[in-house]
Amino acid sequence: MNLITLHEFKGGIHPPENKQQSTSQPISSISLPEKLILPIAQHIGKQSKPVVNVGDTVLKGQIIAEAQGFVSANLHAPTSGQINAIEHRVIAHPSGMSDICIEITPDGKETWAEHQGIENYLEAEPQDLIDQIQRCGITGLGGAGFPTHVKASVEPSKIETLIINAAECEPYITADDMLMREQANGIIKGIEILERIVQPKCCLIGIEDNKPEAIEALNKALKEFTDNTFNIQVVAIPTKYPSGGEKQLIEILTGKEVPAGGLPSDIGIVCQNVGTCFAIYKAISKGEPLISRVTTVTGEACPEPRNYQVLMGTPISHLLRETQCDSNKLNRVIMGGPMMGFTLEDLDTPVVKATNCIIASTSNELPDPAMEQACIRCGMCTEACPAQLLPQQLYWFSKSSNLEQATAHNISDCIECGACAYVCPSNIPLVQYYRHAKGEIKQANADKLKSDKAKERFEARLARLEREAAEKEAKRKARAEAAAKKQAEKKASDASPAKTESAPAADLELLQKKMDATQTAVKKSKEKIAAAEEAGDTDKVELLKGALAKAQEKMKEAAKALAEAKKAAKAAPVASSAAEMEMTPERMQKKIDLAQSRLETAEKRLSQAIEENSDKVDALKTAVTNQQERVKEAQKAYDEFVSGSQSKQAKPATVDTEQLKQKVLAAQTRVDKAKERLDMAKEQGLETVDALQMGLEKQQAKLEEAKTALAEASA
Ligand code: SF4
Ligand code: SF4
Repeated sequence: MNLITLHEFKGGIHPPENKQQSTSQPISSISLPEKLILPIAQHIGKQSKPVVNVGDTVLKGQIIAEAQGFVSANLHAPTSGQINAIEHRVIAHPSGMSDICIEITPDGKETWAEHQGIENYLEAEPQDLIDQIQRCGITGLGGAGFPTHVKASVEPSKIETLIINAAECEPYITADDMLMREQANGIIKGIEILERIVQPKCCLIGIEDNKPEAIEALNKALKEFTDNTFNIQVVAIPTKYPSGGEKQLIEILTGKEVPAGGLPSDIGIVCQNVGTCFAIYKAISKGEPLISRVTTVTGEACPEPRNYQVLMGTPISHLLRETQCDSNKLNRVIMGGPMMGFTLEDLDTPVVKATNCIIASTSNELPDPAMEQACIRCGMCTEACPAQLLPQQLYWFSKSSNLEQATAHNISDCIECGACAYVCPSNIPLVQYYRHAKGEIKQANADKLKSDKAKERFEARLARLEREAAEKEAKRKARAEAAAKKQAEKKASDASPAKTESAPAADLELLQKKMDATQTAVKKSKEKIAAAEEAGDTDKVELLKGALAKAQEKMKEAAKALAEAKKAAKAAPVASSAAEMEMTPERMQKKIDLAQSRLETAEKRLSQAIEENSDKVDALKTAVTNQQERVKEAQKAYDEFVSGSQSKQAKPATVDTEQLKQKVLAAQTRVDKAKERLDMAKEQGLETVDALQMGLEKQQAKLEEAKTALAEASA
């Protein structure tokens, strides 16, 4: 007797059950086939990825294809053997399509890969249990093939009720019925594990009342739990197709409706198939992956309809052979039930995780679909629809590929139960139309998603390019502003006294160098002309004279520029304090020494030119005079600096006597050198004697001044 109030869903039908044929004998096993064909997509979600190669030896329970992502499932070798092929084969699909399959040739040894269950699993962490379920590749065995670890990964506090779907409402199918009769304890243990994971307030096992033996077996197993702390109830529900539909069973047991496009967890419910519970138990307690399942083999062409424990990948042809299927009687083979199943075109199609039934039917039993007639708008389909849809309208929209309207009429809520097609007097294969339209919608959505993503990428690229262009422009502007600022600063700096005063000094040096260079060029040209004249090369002489004229012109220009610069330097105001700060007695002394050295060089050249009676004597005399001027200027600048420095000092005590000593020494050196030069000129009877005599006297006077200053400072 049920302890809860049952509810009723609208629609539904009562087709002939045809279940008793396959429940008279216990579940049996089937021999190993010559080959096992394992599609890598046996579940809802992303297909798994092969991790073996052709020629590999595999063990029973070894992973041969790994899940890709969360909504995916591992695939295991159902037996030990060798990988024979990884290629496209026909798979279990209404369209007869093919997909990648891994073919294994069994070695007959059934050698297991290492596997291990979880001890004290009812005390294990829920996540550890979920992980083990995921490792073992458990998917829903009720038909949809949803990865179980995904369904179990819910927020426990939000789950009120765990519903175990044991309705098995579709005609012919008895796999769950027989499993419940024979493995009730394992099923209850599997439910306990699920309760440990989702922690509901109660658990309801919904089972149609046409399975009294299974109900009894479950109740008996439940009684073995003295406390039944998990609050599990076996609830018998009226037999009506499709009460095993997830949404319909939830409505029957709780009166709640899963919202359109929603999930049971949205209303605090988790629903699992009863066969899945047993698979969970084996995975958790023994570590066994999902490599076989119970499949009903029935139909009038089958002499002994019954249930078999069948390895995944077993070809249907092998199954039919092993069950002595009468090929003379066989009209068509249906995978699944007569309502939701589909006719197999290729009998090498393998058993997969969702294969709950194979019907080897005769033409009397399940005749070929009758000729489709026009819709007479009788409305019977609407009355039969358990999803409260408008099948007739959906038919029109699907037929005319009006996908927008089909979507608007909730075609996605169609559970493809086939109740509408079953009652249709016009024999319209309504579900086929819906499946086709759903496929088109899925493709259109995928295309839209793809184009949306492409659009998103394009817009992101555009935005990036605009951003980069803006950044470039900003940088360019910043550079331009910085350059303008620098220019303005340079102008301001050029206009400042310090700049104007320091420039002539630098210019003078530069111009002097230029002057020296042009003089050297003139000298060389003259030497070359002389050599060419000696050699009698008149052509070359003419050319060299041209070059000499140019060099002399440049020399004149340089001399003019230098003279103007000197004039400007003399007219320039006294050096700014900033420039003074940069100047040191040491630097100034070096300047004097440098000028003196140049003067000596110029004098030597002049002496040599006079000796040789050269025609450049005049030019060299000018150079010597200029250089003497520079020595004087450098000396003057030094004296002014030192005297200025002294005058700035508040107390005589602060006078740097060391500096004055250096000055005396430097003056003495210059006097000595001037004497040497004078003596040499006298010896040689040079014309520069007078000039050198004057230079000596000046140097001697400066020496005296320096000595006096030192004596005063030392006093
Ligand atoms: S049951 Fe068939 S004939 Fe009647 S309305 Fe529906 S589709 Fe048309
Ligand atoms: S196949 Fe879809 S439309 Fe037809 S009865 Fe079932 S749910 Fe309704």
